[in-house]
Formats: sequence, C-alpha cells, structure tokens
Amino acid sequence: MVKRVGTRYIFVSGGVISGIGKGITAASLATILQSKGFKVSPVKIDMYLNVDAGTIRPQEHGEVFVTDDGIETDQDLGHYERFLDLSLSAANYITTGQVYQEVIKKERAFEYDGEDVEAIPHVTDEIIRRIKEAGKASEPDFVIIELGGTVGEYQNMLFFEATRIMELKNPGSTKHVHVAYLPIPSHLGEMKSKPVQQSVRALNSLGIQPDFIIGRSELPMDARRKERLALFCNVAGDDVISNPDVDTIYRVPQVLDGQSVGEKVLAKFGLPLGKKNLGEWRNLVLDIEKAKKELKIAVVGKYFSTGDFQLEDVYVSVIEAIKHASWRHKAKPRLFWIDSDEFEKGKSVEEVLREMDGIVVPGGFGGRGIEGIIKSIKFARESKKPYLGLCYGMQLATVEFARHVAKLEKAHTTEIDPKTPHPVIHIMPEQEKLLIGREYGGTMRLGAFPCKLAAETEAKRAYGRNEVYERHRHRYELNNHYRETLEKAGLVVSGTSLNGKLVEMIELPNHPFFVGTQFHPEFKSRPLRPHPLYLSFVEACLKK
Ligand code: GLN
Repeated sequence: MVKRVGTRYIFVSGGVISGIGKGITAASLATILQSKGFKVSPVKIDMYLNVDAGTIRPQEHGEVFVTDDGIETDQDLGHYERFLDLSLSAANYITTGQVYQEVIKKERAFEYDGEDVEAIPHVTDEIIRRIKEAGKASEPDFVIIELGGTVGEYQNMLFFEATRIMELKNPGSTKHVHVAYLPIPSHLGEMKSKPVQQSVRALNSLGIQPDFIIGRSELPMDARRKERLALFCNVAGDDVISNPDVDTIYRVPQVLDGQSVGEKVLAKFGLPLGKKNLGEWRNLVLDIEKAKKELKIAVVGKYFSTGDFQLEDVYVSVIEAIKHASWRHKAKPRLFWIDSDEFEKGKSVEEVLREMDGIVVPGGFGGRGIEGIIKSIKFARESKKPYLGLCYGMQLATVEFARHVAKLEKAHTTEIDPKTPHPVIHIMPEQEKLLIGREYGGTMRLGAFPCKLAAETEAKRAYGRNEVYERHRHRYELNNHYRETLEKAGLVVSGTSLNGKLVEMIELPNHPFFVGTQFHPEFKSRPLRPHPLYLSFVEACLKK
C-alpha cells in the first residue's frame, strides 16, 4: 500500500449513447489504480427515482446485484466487486430516489431550520454528502464515481452540478473522465468524432471540463480522430484514450494500462506514478485465450422468450461465475438459454437437454414456465446431468423431488399454488406480514448470512470449510414440516443456518452433481477467485 494522501474523487460520465460499458471502463481504471497499491472505492449513481433496484422489472433494469449488507443494487456494482475483489456496501450505491428521500425526511424533521428547501444547494449538498460517505467508509485514496446515464439528460443535471461544486470547494480534489461513443456508420465506413465533441460541449455548458476523454468504439481510435478530439474538446492529445471493443471485458484494464491511463491520472493529481502491475490480469486473459474445450451449459428459465431485451444483463453474475470457473478448468463455456415455456407447450425436454454438459436454473419469481423448469430438473436428476439450482432453482428442485421421489402429489411452492396440499416451499413467517402490509421495497431476506455445511456432502467438499457466508434475496424457504419426509426419501440437507432452522443448501447423493442453494453464490465469484461451488459444478460437467 502507498502512503495515504487524502481522498481524491474521480468522476466518470458518459456521452452520446448509454450501454457503451462506462461501468467496465470505470472498473478497469479503478483496477489499474488498485494494482499500483492505492485503495479505491467505487460508487455507482443511478438516476432513477427508485430508492433501490429491488422493485424494478428485470427486463427493464437487468440484474439486481445484492451486496453483503443486503442492498439491492445495479449490475455495475457486481462488475466493481469482480474487478476489485472488494465487498461493497450501501455507501457505494446512490440513486436519485435515496437523495430526495433523505432531503424530504430532513425537511419534515425541521432540519433545514425553516429555510425553503431547494435543488441547489440542498439536493446537491445531499449528493456531496453521500459521495463523501463512500470516501469515509473505507478511507480510500480514490473514490471513483460513475454517473449514470449520459450528459445532457435532465435527470442527472444536479449530479453534474454537485461534481462542479465539489471541485470548486476543494480545488484539485477531483478529476473528470468522460467516456463517449464514436460511431462508424456503415454507409460511411469511417469513425466519426462529432457526437463526442458535442457531448463534451454539453459537459462544458454545465461548467465541467473533462480531464480525460475515453473514446469507446468498435475499432481503435486513430491519431487523426484523437487530434480532432483534443483540439475541439480542449484536452491534451495524450489524454484522449482509445477503448475499442475487445473479446473479454477482463482485457480492458490492459488496454487502458497500455496507454498509461493510471500514470496520467496520478500525474494530474500530482501523485507518484507507481509501477505497472497487472500481471494477474494478463495471466487471466492468457487463460481465457487458452480455454478451448467447449462446455455446453443450459440455463433454463422464463423471461427467455421475450427477445426484446438483453438476457445477458439479467443473469450477468451467473454468466460471469460460470465463465470464471470454466476458464480455471481451461474450458470455454457456451450458454444455451432455454425457455421453459416451450417444455410446457410440448417440446421434448430430453431432446433439448440431452446434448448439454450441465443444467443451471437461476433465481426467479412468479409462475410462468414453472412446470417446464420442473420437467428440466426431473431430467437432470434422472439422467444424472450436473445440476446447479440457484435460489428458485433450489426451491423448484425441492418441489420436483417432493412430487416424484417422496410421492407428495401436487407438492408446490405457495408462491405459485397457495392451496397446494403439500407446501414444501412456503413463505417465511416475517415475510408474510410484510406482504400483507404491501411493504415490498428492500424487505426480502437480503444480504449475507452464515451457513453451516454438513459433513460428507458435495457442499462441504466444494467449499472445503465448515461455515460460509453467502448472499440471499428471497421470501420463500423450505418448509421444515416436510424436512424429515424429504430426507427419508433421500434428499440431503447439506447447508443450514447456524441454528439449523433454515435450509440453505440441498443436494442428492448418487448423482455426479446435484446441488441447490437458497442463496446466490454467483454474487461472490471473481475472475481471479472463482467460486468453489461453480468450480465443482464445472468440474462435474467436464467429467460426465
Ligand atoms: N421467488 C423465490 C423467493 O422469493 C426465489 C427468489 C430468487 O430466486 N431470488 O423465495
């Protein structure tokens, strides 16, 4: 670690269009600074009025990433955790909803002493307070703040204003990185820099001059484009950075490091430059390149047939966890998105799943496609295909086992069938009260809880420890009333809460790998530290 010099703030804004990987770019910059021995803390600011991401439709928002302290956040927090190998918390995630909620709460508590409460300075002050909170929590050298959306939108205006005020009040304490898109229109076949010039002009009109421009584009930016951006956007040529599309997001730190972005940022803050130190990331990319053996993994769920949104966004942590584990085993995963609805309409489960090396049922809610998922689980159990059930995937594996092995006819989860004669999965008692009171936001069983593992189980073998902490997001659980019946029929409860009362993991003996988790292990998988359960799952898939 380098000597502490006081916290600096790096703002990362977006220009031209959204969805260009601003989060990955910010995470890569943070990774470079971290690799030089600095302590970094990332912050994601989302512009929506939701207090957190928990109540937003997955099709709309993508994955809800859950932190150890149980905050339902944006998938970018997941990228930050994966790149930086940190566990983030409430301080690392800000939404417009949180900011307004706090300002209004203070107003109602007469904390503004009768002043009239205004967007500036009261809302901006609250934004600054929240950003500094992230600086206090872990005493980092750098707080890297990703401003959601693109410059020029109404809803992020006050956040840009807050960044300007922070620099004004404490000159030299902030830098601004603008990540913007350079299109290559097919009919022109040439990279255009004008949209970026315009987005920088929009930034200028807010009183902000970027220190760096990172140009996202399909191809590397050439010298001419860089010169133009430098000239028209008033930045040094060296501070225009090219960030083209690459084969894996884990290559981006190297791409930026190759242009000495870390050194340039440090120089601007007047700090010592440090050594280049991305060896681990270089090795990871080499491993990815070397991973040749194809692994076919079926991910079975609902949502999949909609087609008008990115599935990859909804299951990003699951996908990444599968990749991390596969690469470690020198395999190249190929994911097949299987729409369980199709199995209900009569498509043969066997025909589709026979070819697969392993089957995953990820987390989910609601009834669509459920019988199709249960059919897939039955196939995995009977045909001895490696199976990994995550949260809903564990609950539905319990239902399948109850119906077909324990012979509890019409067994179900009460989430789908409240009148089932055998509610093997039922709502947790404290959750029931919350639902009756319509208290939906941030009220699931959320965050990391300890889980104790049973001896001589797949779970224990995989983790190699007696106790683990994993992250949850659910309202339903295995009904203890049925535990004995299910265990007698052969289901193994391999993980429970410390008091033994909550079933956190199930598995089947005499099967190459059939494991269900009430938690979401994928949230803790890192590229440089793949998750043990995913490693065991992939190992089983490779063995078959
Ligand atoms: N719908 C289930 C529950 O609420 C599972 C949730 C999940 O998969 N995250 O318990």
